[in-house]
Amino acid sequence: MRQPGDDLRKLAADGLLRELRVLESPQQPRVVVDDQELINFSSNDYLGLANDPGLKACYQQAIERYGVGSGASRLVSGTMAPHIQLEKHIATLKHTEAALTFSSGYATAVGLIPAIVGKDDFVVMDKLCHASLIDGARLSGATMRVFPHNDLEKMRAHLAWANERKQDQSRVLVLVESVYSMDGDRAPLEAICELAKEYGALLLVDEAHGLGVVGKGGLGLASELGLESQIDFQMGTFSKAVGLSGGYVCASRQWVDWLINRARSFIYSTAPAPALAATISEALALVTGSVGDQLRDRLWQHIRNLDAGAESAIVAKIVGTNEQALAESLKLREMGLLVPAIRYPTVPRGTARLRITLSASHDSESVALIGENLHG
Ligand SMILES: *Cc1c(COP(=O)(O)O)cnc(C)c1O
Repeated sequence: MRQPGDDLRKLAADGLLRELRVLESPQQPRVVVDDQELINFSSNDYLGLANDPGLKACYQQAIERYGVGSGASRLVSGTMAPHIQLEKHIATLKHTEAALTFSSGYATAVGLIPAIVGKDDFVVMDKLCHASLIDGARLSGATMRVFPHNDLEKMRAHLAWANERKQDQSRVLVLVESVYSMDGDRAPLEAICELAKEYGALLLVDEAHGLGVVGKGGLGLASELGLESQIDFQMGTFSKAVGLSGGYVCASRQWVDWLINRARSFIYSTAPAPALAATISEALALVTGSVGDQLRDRLWQHIRNLDAGAESAIVAKIVGTNEQALAESLKLREMGLLVPAIRYPTVPRGTARLRITLSASHDSESVALIGENLHG
């Protein structure tokens, strides 16, 4: 029998071995790793809220009030007032009838998708969709068709293909992101909505990197383009710009009632701590209010300074091989800059890259420094 050591040696030989890096400080613009202070360009804490003093105080007060744990799954006795308030809050922000929250964005996708589609159904998805969407689609048993990134003609061809084969009652579900996590570019969402409508398909949009960053009040790309009413499932996470953790989906009341009955990652998992849910609500108010607007202004100044053409807080520099990406990442680290090398299987083979993420909490000097080292 093959031992894990054999597989690990092969990973190392291919430049694909991954190891945990321990942060010796909170998540913030300057972090300490292996006793070295580094400027952090590797977190998704786009607004710098993960270590926000006000939210920390709110979390502590919520713990005093609700305790540290929820004690049961949501359907047993784990649902408390903060969970319901949070779901009302995010549904109101996204202009849907209802919402459901999960312990993470990953759990949202793998619970949600198999509750919508099954073996007689079809999933049509973008090639660059996040692993959680891929895993959800696979788990569902639906027939999957993948179109090249943002390729609307191929998407149309897959929708037509599915419609020819589907039975009367079958569903076709389209999966896209609003802002793609490893490239930082946006989906042509208006055209995607039209195509889904034309072919009678359901549409799920993952706004993991849109919420808090894109659109008025940071409400995301669907909101910016006025498309919320055309999207059946607006999904996202509280673990990026919102600074905490947990996932959500906003949808019709009927869909949410169905998910409560069928989404296995919701049903068979302990409810997120009520204090966490309460703090997320507070963070959402911050993100979508005037403080959020100020932070976004700052974030977008940084983004434009680094890359005038960037469409989000994610700037990718595609390098090529795993070894090249690792070498560049190491070189930056020696200069005091923490920039991760993203490799297969997170991105397609041959497109290993440096992934720089910016935050409102960076100072202008740090952004200038990474710019010089990236372009120079
Ligand atoms: C990060 C991410 C998720 C997962 O969210 P978590 O809350 O971190 O589990 C899902 N979809 C996309 C596009 C993401 O970038």
